[in-house]
Amino acid sequence: MSKQKFELKFNNPLPRGVTDALRTQVEKALSFLPGSESGEGEKPFLSLLIDGKKVKKGYSITRENAGGEIKVTGADAASLLRGVYAFAEKFCGVRKYTYSPAVMPKEKPALPDTIDEKYEPFFEYAETDWLSPHSTEYSFFNGLNGTRYRKLPDVCGGGVGYISGFAHTFTNEFCSAKKYFKSNPEYFAMRGIKRVKSQLCLSNPDVYKIVRGEVFDLLKKKHNPDARLQIISLTQNDNLFYCTCEKCRQASRKYGSHAGSVLEFVNRIADEVKAAGYGNVALDTFAYRYTRRPPEGITARDNVIVRLCTIECCFSHPLSDKTCAANADFTKDFLAWSKICNRIYIWDYCTNFCNYTGIFPDFGTLQKNMQFYYENGVKGVYEEGNFQMEAECEFGELRAFLISKLMQNPYCDYNALRDEFCKAYYGAGGEYICRFLDIITENAAKRHLSIYEPMTSTLTLGKEQIKLCDSLWREAKSRTRLEEHKHVLASEICWRWWKYKKRVSEFSSPVTLKKQADALKKDIADSGVTRLSESAKVKAYFISMAHSHRTHAKTESVIKMLYKR
Ligand SMILES: [Zn+2]
Ligand SMILES: [Zn+2]
Repeated sequence: MSKQKFELKFNNPLPRGVTDALRTQVEKALSFLPGSESGEGEKPFLSLLIDGKKVKKGYSITRENAGGEIKVTGADAASLLRGVYAFAEKFCGVRKYTYSPAVMPKEKPALPDTIDEKYEPFFEYAETDWLSPHSTEYSFFNGLNGTRYRKLPDVCGGGVGYISGFAHTFTNEFCSAKKYFKSNPEYFAMRGIKRVKSQLCLSNPDVYKIVRGEVFDLLKKKHNPDARLQIISLTQNDNLFYCTCEKCRQASRKYGSHAGSVLEFVNRIADEVKAAGYGNVALDTFAYRYTRRPPEGITARDNVIVRLCTIECCFSHPLSDKTCAANADFTKDFLAWSKICNRIYIWDYCTNFCNYTGIFPDFGTLQKNMQFYYENGVKGVYEEGNFQMEAECEFGELRAFLISKLMQNPYCDYNALRDEFCKAYYGAGGEYICRFLDIITENAAKRHLSIYEPMTSTLTLGKEQIKLCDSLWREAKSRTRLEEHKHVLASEICWRWWKYKKRVSEFSSPVTLKKQADALKKDIADSGVTRLSESAKVKAYFISMAHSHRTHAKTESVIKMLYKR
């Protein structure tokens, strides 16, 4: 690789190790610039600067005149790095669509004579768990800064991360049932006439002392004063068994919500953490299921994050749609939370957890919801998708890309990005897939869509529309080869899965059903997908599928019922 022409300047000298590591990363980013491999083409002279006074947040990219140097200035190391990757993307036409190597522009891009670009992040925390976002380089390109699913080296500015477990830490990590339940059942939730180990009794003063002690032990071990933000999660376990002892009941009555006693508990710890001087640490808790209703008469401290979960929502209608009952109910809670907490993070969902391989037609709501979050003061977003994905499944790669871009800028040109991705990823098949996406997006809006939606009620396409969709997939397949063809086949499985569940098209005849289902099964296995849903592995599921198709339909409806509030 030819030597890059750039200068790295810092207003405050950083440790030598940091500048070296940052330099390595910057060199990597610049290696994407046209001409850097061959030594040909315009090699812009870049001056890179960290200056938190000049640029308070994010980065700026400027050039005063033709042939002049290009200055990338970041508020901190991580922002500078983002700025360099953004420069490669926006001005040099380099794209990172998936974990595969970055796509270089076909023609040598002409740099503008003058540049005056400023960017401030819309959210302090951007995280998603789809497959490609696990890649560090993908995250540098597409701006993901959470550290749950990727490594972002501290020496490059690091990211925003949880130094405790990510979720459901009560009874697991803090005041663990393993350690205390036997000796002190009174620390745990009263259900009926006995204590159960699935949630804590937060009104017990000893529970507070234990959790507080464990939080400070954790800080002693893992606190990094140079980190941008470190988060400790104090969150209820994943079940509905909140404590019903007299004191906990009183607290719930006092605040009008089970969230009241949790927030009171977390606020107290947050005050102590702040008083001890941990300025870059925040305490995080959930507004989830039985704690989703906002409490009255209490507000969250500045160093408390409330992660509000959209698990009960409908994803074919935007949250702002007042005619969608599930969303109107959520929005009411959300807006009330935003009055008592200025650091809401959204835990959002973007797949069908009962049907990873099935269509989840949420494409018409992704942008509207991201704008809604931003406009109502949300500070962080985590998009939970198919976190168990091991190979392309449904439209996982497309959705991951769009979500990342939306978290970077909720007002981006969403349709143009979708079309661009499809063209790059599905090649000449892309335009047919976009037409398919238009059809299912329009159709999905006719009914509600939960994240546990049975395939049979996901879309209501008529015979003619099914025929049209079949022809679009046929076209997409016939026009592609190699990798792009593989991508088309992998995504087509979601359409075939929907048809199989609906018993339409090639799955409509009982005579050929088994043959068609076997072919689908083989293709799913060959695609590398190992899970059909959050709980079902491909192998186990197909054994049960051979026994009975009815059983699964029943399982789906049971799961749906279980997860209803
Ligand atoms: Zn209690
Ligand atoms: Zn709806």
